[in-house]
Amino acid sequence: MDQPMAAYDDSNIFAKILRGEIPSHRVYEDDDTIAFMDVMPQGPGHLLVVPKAPSRNLLDADPLVLGKTIAIVQRLAVAAKAAFAADGVSIFQFNEPAGGQTVFHLHFHVVPRFDGVPLQPHSGKMEDSAVLAEGAAKVKAALAA
Ligand code: 5GP
Repeated sequence: MDQPMAAYDDSNIFAKILRGEIPSHRVYEDDDTIAFMDVMPQGPGHLLVVPKAPSRNLLDADPLVLGKTIAIVQRLAVAAKAAFAADGVSIFQFNEPAGGQTVFHLHFHVVPRFDGVPLQPHSGKMEDSAVLAEGAAKVKAALAA
């Protein structure tokens, strides 16, 4: 049966990143959106694109916010593909625990992909901060190019 969805809770980790309470390797920010490196990447250059407006996931998001966010997802997908000389890019977006979501503030995953290379597990192993910083610098350079 259809379950009622929990309310948005601003104690989630991405709300803390948005408020600057915990650090992240940011690659992009505008009035509505931020993007930063995933700390447990499923591959090199795994990014998260996060609207600033609070919503738990896509199911309760404002369609106008979704529109702005997906445009930034596209920009970052193009930049990340170039930055990592990838063969393709996977975009993931999960809704509710049954849908694979673990952090309950809307976000899109942008993952550069390489022919024949499988993804690492979702929320698997913490990456070194230096590797994340290097990846963020590459994406920022590609965005600026
Ligand atoms: P979800 O399962 O909700 O779609 O994805 C949440 C993502 O957030 C996972 O890929 C996980 O690795 C990432 N993540 C969890 N905690 C943190 C954090 O503190 N900082 C960053 N940058 N990513 C995180």
